[in-house]
Formats: sequence, structure tokens, C-alpha cells
Amino acid sequence: MPSIDETIQLIRIGERPGNVTSGSSTCSSDLAAGPWELDEAKPGYGPGASMADVLPAGSPVQGVLPQEYRGLSREELDLRIRAAKHALGEKLLILGHYYQRDEVIRYADFVGDSFQLAQASRTRPKAEAMVFCGVHFMAETADMLSRPDQAVILPNLAAGCSMADMADVDTVTDCWEDLHALFGEAPDASGRVPVIPVTYMNSSAALKAFCGKHGGIVCTSSNASAVLDWAFERGQRVLFFPDQHLGRNTGKAMGIPLEQMVVWNPNEPLGGSSEETLKNARILLWHGYCSVHKRFTVEQVQLARMRHPGVRVIVHPESPMEVVDAADEAGSTDFIRKKVEAAEPGSIFAIGTEINMVQRLADQHPEHTIFCLDSVICPCSSMYRIHPSYLLWVLEALERGEVLNRIVVPEEIAIPARVALERMLSVKPR
Ligand code: SF4
Repeated sequence: MPSIDETIQLIRIGERPGNVTSGSSTCSSDLAAGPWELDEAKPGYGPGASMADVLPAGSPVQGVLPQEYRGLSREELDLRIRAAKHALGEKLLILGHYYQRDEVIRYADFVGDSFQLAQASRTRPKAEAMVFCGVHFMAETADMLSRPDQAVILPNLAAGCSMADMADVDTVTDCWEDLHALFGEAPDASGRVPVIPVTYMNSSAALKAFCGKHGGIVCTSSNASAVLDWAFERGQRVLFFPDQHLGRNTGKAMGIPLEQMVVWNPNEPLGGSSEETLKNARILLWHGYCSVHKRFTVEQVQLARMRHPGVRVIVHPESPMEVVDAADEAGSTDFIRKKVEAAEPGSIFAIGTEINMVQRLADQHPEHTIFCLDSVICPCSSMYRIHPSYLLWVLEALERGEVLNRIVVPEEIAIPARVALERMLSVKPR
């Protein structure tokens, strides 16, 4: 099957291959352009699911990609990337996130979710440079977990994450002060403090550090319920950021009533709730979301069931609660991958996660029918900013001994952030 990038180009010229994982339209015609056309001309997240999200002021900006790297043929890119990889040998480690385009993933030494990739450096002690084909917060985590002499490189600095950007440390600190003013700081009779901060892996290093300093912890979509158990052993309630959907879906699966899970909107006084409501809350959900997973709807689930009797619908828990409720199962990228691998041949899956991952699953498992719940091709905008041209640019610089686009987390942030990450690693999976 053609890759998602190839399908986007076919749609651009008015052709449409049969037997594809998704529909015959894209959410933006800009997806067919090279990302270098956006780096300066169109500040923002770029085309794809996050294109309507607001890029915070001060976000990292990608400089001009040298002309010689723009618009190279697929063959030339392939030849030069492979030559640079070969020349750099064991000094180089290329990491690729599940949501990355196939045209980049084919060069990755490891493919995985954000935390699996951040830990991969430990398996290659000889690697001096790790080129992280993912987004900014992932590269930060890799930098914090790798040796100081290992350089983590993000091929395009514009590859942020709109969900991670929805919570920044200043706004979360304001919220924290409001909550302390309301609840005080004294523990209850069983020693539990009023609030424990929990941040999703998809957040800045500064927010992980905030959790480390304030008795809090990091979670992933695989361990969120075990982490919430940990937090409730130590606190009366949890402040969960930045993804409200993961927080709500996890809390609901743990039996917490919806009225005790309250959205905190940082733009409103007391987050938009009364003191009474906040005092009764068990989870305060930051008003953040992933624009990729927000696209999935109950109607899409119903349509998949109508068109494909016997279909199994699996969605990521960053999807809205109604969609998770309507699906057969919900789980992390790794959970989805394992479910597909374990299924009987001939199974039919409608999957609610990023389209590049769904397409790859479909390619790897021709024994099943696999398609994306969303019929519009709308990849993650941030992952889309990494193109093979940027990969080649940073690799050829490394060959010359130049490190471009290095991501470095200052030690004053990395030390408390590692505390929150270590707490997460100490939590036994459920
Ligand atoms: S899929 Fe969502 S959470 Fe993941 S990088 Fe893209 S915008 Fe961020």
C-alpha cells in the first residue's frame, strides 16, 4: 500500500489508489508541500490535526533549511541518508516515533512510543548522537535520561506538540497557588496532602520538574491508572495535566464519578469552578487535549460497525470519553499494536490513533483488515514537520563534526524532572 505521504501526493494530483487505510481527502492541501515552506512563512503548528491550535509565543523556531536540502528526489535522499548512517556507524542512533511518516521511519534504529524511545539511549552506550524523529518534549526526555556526552538532536525545531504546549509552568504554578490558598497545605488524618500533581509524559521538562519538586509524578498512557493509585495513596486529590481526556478516561475506568472530575480552565478564575465543586473533586483535569485524537467521534465508531460487521474498534485514551465508551477497547499505542499482533487472521480493526501508525499496522498485518476511524487523512502536525530532508541535513552535519538542533535541558530542571520520572518507574504496573 502507498504510504500516507505518497497517498497525500496522489490526492494532490487528483489520483486515488484503491485499498487504502483511510479516505480520499486530506484536512489541508498544505500537507503536500515540503515542511521547509512553513518554517518561516507560516508560523504555527503547520498542516495536520493541530493546525487550528495556537502556538505559544516563544516556541522554538526552525531556521532556514539550506536550499540544497529542499526538494531532493526520493532516490537521492535515500542514497545520502544511508551513506551518512553508514559513515557514522555506532556513533549514531536514529529514533522514530510510531506516528512518524514511513519515509523517516525506514531509517530508524528503534521505533516506539515516547518513553520507550527516551530509554533507548541506554541500550546503545557507544552512541554519541541520537537523532530523535519525534517531537520536542520527547527529545527533552531523551536528553534527561541519556549521558551528558550524548547529544540529542531534533531534526526540525518546529516539531513541538500542541497538547504539551497547552500547559506551561507559569500557568500551572498560578493554578497550584490558587489550590493551596483554597485547600491549605496540611495533610489529613491519614497523612495525605491536599493535592498531588501528575503530568502526562507529553509535557515539557519544566512541568516534569514541577512535579518532582511538589511531590508529584509522571505517567504514560500505559501506566496512568497505576500512577493515579500511587497519587491517591499520598494525596486527597490529583491535579492532572495537560491532557484532560487521558485523565478523565483513566479516572472513569477506576470508578471515579464524573462529577468528581472537574476541568480546570486556566483562563477563568478558580479554573471555572466554585470552591465547593473543587473541594469535592478527586481529579482536577487541565484543559488540554490532543488534536489528533480529538478528531475521533462516536459517529465514526457507529459507521465502522455499520459498514464492517464484526469490526473491533480500538482507540487511544487521549480520545474523548464518549468515543472510548463507544469503542470495544482503549489503550496506548503499544496496547493497540499488541492487540493487532495477537488477533486471529481475518480480524477487522477500526483504530482511533494517528494515521501513520494505523497505516503501518495495516502494512505489517495483511492478514487483517485495518483502517483508521477517521476517513480524512490528517496526520499529527508536529510529527509532519520532520521530513527526510531535515534528517539528511542533521546527519551530514554530524559527519562533518557539527551538531545541529541539539536539545539540552538545563540541570536545574533535569534534576527534579528525573525525580518525577524515577517515581513513575518505581510504580508497579496494575
Ligand atoms: S499526536 Fe497529539 S500528543 Fe502526540 S505529538 Fe501529536 S499533537 Fe502531541
